[in-house]
Amino acid sequence: MSYQEVIANIPDEVTLVAVSKTKSVEEILEVYNQGQRIFGENKVQELTEKYTALPKDIEWHLIGHLQTNKVKYIASFVQMIHAVDSLKLFVEIDKQAKKYNRVIDCLLQFHIAQETSKFGLSREEAINLLEDETFLQLTNVRIRGVMGMATFTDNPDQIRNEFQSLAELFLFLKHTYFNDQPSFDVKSMGMSGDYKLAIEAGSTLVRVGSLIFGTR
Ligand SMILES: *Cc1c(COP(=O)(O)O)cnc(C)c1O
Repeated sequence: MSYQEVIANIPDEVTLVAVSKTKSVEEILEVYNQGQRIFGENKVQELTEKYTALPKDIEWHLIGHLQTNKVKYIASFVQMIHAVDSLKLFVEIDKQAKKYNRVIDCLLQFHIAQETSKFGLSREEAINLLEDETFLQLTNVRIRGVMGMATFTDNPDQIRNEFQSLAELFLFLKHTYFNDQPSFDVKSMGMSGDYKLAIEAGSTLVRVGSLIFGTR
């Protein structure tokens, strides 16, 4: 598919993050020149290199796992960090954001897939995090919503169920902790293989790479 075909398939109210990991600056510029301004990377070093090389009106999202000791390299410019799943990481993002007088948008990553993964919160863990005294003191992080990845499977019912479970978690958190915060409005779910199912389940932001840039 071309970039134009991908955007034609995504409703206007759903944000597209073009996932450019492993792709060159030239390939990214081709998509930039067609109007795309939001790009996603999953590695800190690649993200900082591309930030340096590319136009400064790009909004960069870090979509992959982030190690605490690397937050300092992206804190001055990153627009959104998708995969936050620990208090320790929030504390570090807050600390680094303060140095630049910024408030950094973050998403809570949930483990919704059947595959085992070290990453992503359970509902219980999210509750503990959001009620932690240390967390409540943070001033320079803003939680915008949730992020999750469905199981890599051909079974659409399973994928649909997993996205629905993330949408339910979003609603629960919204009602319980963020009712007075309209900025809690992001459900980051859906990739090249499952973005249509994700949008049906209420995704507000899809992270699409190979469909736009070709396989990696
Ligand atoms: C690579 C990646 C994507 C995009 O995957 P595609 O299948 O190429 O669309 C989305 N989200 C995350 C977290 C990724 O690492």
